[in-house]
Amino acid sequence: MTRIKDALDAVAAAVIAQKDYLTSLDAKIGDGDHGLNMARGFRAAQEAVEEMDDTTLPGPVLKTIGKALIQNVGGAAGPLYGAGFVSAGEACDGDTHMNVASIEKLLSAAIAAIQKRGRAAQGDKTMLDTLIPVRDCFLPENAQDKPLFEVLQDASRAAGEGVNYTKTIAARKGRASLVGERSIGIEDPGAVSSMVMYRALYQFLKN
Ligand code: ADP
Ligand code: MG
Ligand code: MG
Repeated sequence: MTRIKDALDAVAAAVIAQKDYLTSLDAKIGDGDHGLNMARGFRAAQEAVEEMDDTTLPGPVLKTIGKALIQNVGGAAGPLYGAGFVSAGEACDGDTHMNVASIEKLLSAAIAAIQKRGRAAQGDKTMLDTLIPVRDCFLPENAQDKPLFEVLQDASRAAGEGVNYTKTIAARKGRASLVGERSIGIEDPGAVSSMVMYRALYQFLKN
């Protein structure tokens, strides 16, 4: 089964397609490299996964993606996303299947790792302003008895709302915090890359 690899290819293609847009956002409030960093990282992740003998289990694949991001991306986002993927991989077991509870578990593990490393909270104008609302859709109190596809759709909407929210606030973490109030009006590049990744996964799962 090559489905996990196919999902990675879908996410990588979306990130690479949005490279210039992500970079242009980062040029406005940071140093203009976010798209380049993410595209480089995902190409490296694809190469690393290509070299794996066995890509049937999600845990080892997620860990390989995470390590490739950590090793190949300078700057803030690569190591943060990398730590997130590694922790999500560690949260898998031989028996992990795609359902509301397992997605919640993986996203929560990723968010915890990103927060441990980056010490940012929701509202600081970072990738977390997308990732936390996305994860919250999969919590039992919000997912209730909804079918998986409906929760995945809720989360796609939440990702867009998270990005829009970052437009209204000033950055308090990362390079964009250096421009402070002047970052208001611009979407956070990392919040956008998180939305791009999530929506690529959603489209992949829907098909
Ligand atoms: P750099 O800022 O080092 O050039 P990138 O441009 O690749 O790195 O990534 C910038 C993105 O990283 C920001 O838009 C933000 O979403 C995210 N980011 C920066 N610092 C943090 C942090 N401490 N916690 C979570 N995300 C962060
Ligand atoms: Mg940057
Ligand atoms: Mg940089």
